[in-house]
Amino acid sequence: MAVPVSQMWTVATYVLKQRLRGVERYPLVLMLEPLFRCNLECAGCGKIQYPANILKQNLSPEQCFQAVEECGAPMVSIPGGEPLLHPQIHEIVEGLVARRKYIYLCTNAILLEKHLDRFKPSKYLTFSIHLDGPKAEHDKAVCREGIYEIAVKAIEAAVKRGFRVTTNSTLFNDADPETYRRFFDTLMGLGVEGMMVSPGYPYEKAPDQEHFLHRNETHSLFRRILSNPKRGWRFNQSPLFLEFLKGNWDLECTPWGNPTYNVFGWQKPCYLMQEGYAQSFDELMSSTEWNCYGHKSGNPKCTDCMVHSGYEPSAVTATFASWKGFLKTALLTMFGPNKVSAEELAKDEVRNTRPTRLPINSEDSQFEFELPVVNSKS
Ligand code: SF4
Repeated sequence: MAVPVSQMWTVATYVLKQRLRGVERYPLVLMLEPLFRCNLECAGCGKIQYPANILKQNLSPEQCFQAVEECGAPMVSIPGGEPLLHPQIHEIVEGLVARRKYIYLCTNAILLEKHLDRFKPSKYLTFSIHLDGPKAEHDKAVCREGIYEIAVKAIEAAVKRGFRVTTNSTLFNDADPETYRRFFDTLMGLGVEGMMVSPGYPYEKAPDQEHFLHRNETHSLFRRILSNPKRGWRFNQSPLFLEFLKGNWDLECTPWGNPTYNVFGWQKPCYLMQEGYAQSFDELMSSTEWNCYGHKSGNPKCTDCMVHSGYEPSAVTATFASWKGFLKTALLTMFGPNKVSAEELAKDEVRNTRPTRLPINSEDSQFEFELPVVNSKS
């Protein structure tokens, strides 16, 4: 099982309590970004393009604890930047463990082996290791040779010392399905607890704009990778989210499910977009025009987004807050997804018309248009 029963129980009871209280919008995972600094410059990253004075800043442990208390989510994901560059990251983690929060510390693992002594294994702490593919693919994605081997060595060291370890992989439109199926075998062979996968979000600021996936490409790619999963694969994600990636289950984004706190405050509306900041969690919830976001809103910045930070909370809510979702999840957990024949998968090659994105001025909240053009792959 990819997630411990105690964690599942905590999340399930939390969701049910919110529903019983009639709370419509509630946070599930706090995205706590204690810094934007990083020791890599990945081509698909939209987080590290800040000026030096911003990159130097760190949230203090007290600021982190206050955000966690204000928000009340049962899980905390610590991305960045690279959290292990934060001089007090171990104090932040200790404080969150003491508050019984389930923490996912997201790291590129360059510093992990060196810093393992600063942490204690706990059911509340998971290292979520960024690995975007096998050696060639990962080193290309992070724009530096040798990082894959460093990450693998760190995973082995952390697993050996009894830490919970998962991986997170962001996929782009040049991913080869067979290569990723073999990659998942390799990850499970390293002894990780589970894997997380997500399509990349088309950050306007990311240096590489060519390889982001459009919605129909995401469906096609994940159908080809995740249909007929191997017995040993375990994902640290809701079965409904994986079905959503394959185009088999409809979900709408719930950006309030993964609210983001960083050196600027509470980021509106989600982890991926920056459309202003609130000074408190309550202000974030009450002052954000939530209807302007999500796939059905028509907001072009959301059109192709199928990222876990927007849709995983929707999947969790669908699982625990509706009989249909609960039953589907139970069936998927017990029997796995429906088998798909090789012929059907072959037909599923990308043959979409791919929209061309017109530039979206981030200063301007007006929606703009997309021009459909024939995909060169079709
Ligand atoms: S669809 Fe994606 S970009 Fe839009 S609000 Fe949701 S998470 Fe953010």
